[in-house]
Amino acid sequence: MPEQQPLGLPVHRTAAWSFGSAAEYRDVLGGLQPGYSYSRVDNPTADAFAQGVAALEGAHVDGEVVGQPFASGMAAISTVLMALTRAGAHVVAPWEVYGGTYGLLTTVLERFGVATTFVDLADLDAVRAAIRPETTVLWGETLANPTMSVADLPALSAIARDAGLTFVVDSTFASPAVVRPLEHGVDLVVHSATKYIGGHSDVTGGVAVGRPDVLSRVRHDRIDLGGSLAPDEAYLLHRGLATLPLRVTRHCSSALAVATALADHPVVERIDYPGLPGHRDHDLAVKLFDEGRFGGVVTITPRGGRDAGLALCDRLRLVMRATSLGGTHSVVSHVASTTHRQFDDAALAAAGIGPAAVRLSVGLEDPEDLVADLAQALDPL
Ligand SMILES: *Cc1c(COP(=O)(O)O)cnc(C)c1O
Repeated sequence: MPEQQPLGLPVHRTAAWSFGSAAEYRDVLGGLQPGYSYSRVDNPTADAFAQGVAALEGAHVDGEVVGQPFASGMAAISTVLMALTRAGAHVVAPWEVYGGTYGLLTTVLERFGVATTFVDLADLDAVRAAIRPETTVLWGETLANPTMSVADLPALSAIARDAGLTFVVDSTFASPAVVRPLEHGVDLVVHSATKYIGGHSDVTGGVAVGRPDVLSRVRHDRIDLGGSLAPDEAYLLHRGLATLPLRVTRHCSSALAVATALADHPVVERIDYPGLPGHRDHDLAVKLFDEGRFGGVVTITPRGGRDAGLALCDRLRLVMRATSLGGTHSVVSHVASTTHRQFDDAALAAAGIGPAAVRLSVGLEDPEDLVADLAQALDPL
């Protein structure tokens, strides 16, 4: 038989590989010779997925960009944070940071002697003021939940560079089909691949990409911490990459259509979407993001209190009530009772989040059907 390449990605569903000799076994394990040994260490299907994300994120970056695959977004985030800190170290992170990352920083890493200062990333002076001699990491999110605020990646990269910090960005809400943070000076990008990269709400995974020197520390700690990606999940995530730009183009255009259609609705108090000219970070989004792409998440705040937000969720027929985002189907979460349930009304107000706010992840349905569903759900409010 001739040697041929399959068009589909093979799934290497194995825990271990055999060796032709004891010497080969010794040399692969010792790093003297390339090869696979054990799937927690390396798996070809998982590697193909991570290198695919690295190719997308690093397409326009000088120098090599590599990736590490993880079993979830939090496995990527926890491994990256552990690789870049030690007892006595300090992290600067946005107050809007993803809840799991917040919990990791304030409960887990705190127990190991890593302190965190939470700041408003839009206030560059506050970011500079928060940096201490022991700070090792500046953490950011390209698009933050649920305000959809945009991180000023070039300005924050400059601050991190001047202070000698590693600037890590969680780019889950954007995906590389909207913006590639490495092009703007970011050192390391992490994703919950569970969202846009997988794209079908049927797989959990994560990935970290960046320069080989930064990633080698991450890889080392991934192997010891054990949050490695399984080959079947890697197959689905790799498959998601092929349609990522197509899907994200549609998520973004539909999100803009929904945001625009509802912006002047009499029952809507406010829409948070960076594609709208009235959003605080619209100009920054235009500068950093690919043309016409502002992400697929729109936060809708109807008039009235918590009950108005809950009623909006309950009255939707096409849009489902579910956690997560970035899938084919549109889903909503009432922010105050789900992702931000630890916040009381005063904390929500301080964060610029109304008690009625509803986060909508716009799926791939016909945008006219989505607008119609939202309009009928808003009407009786
Ligand atoms: C979902 C999410 C995560 C966590 O990812 P998992 O795959 O659920 O572990 C991290 N950051 C952001 C911004 C997310 O939306």
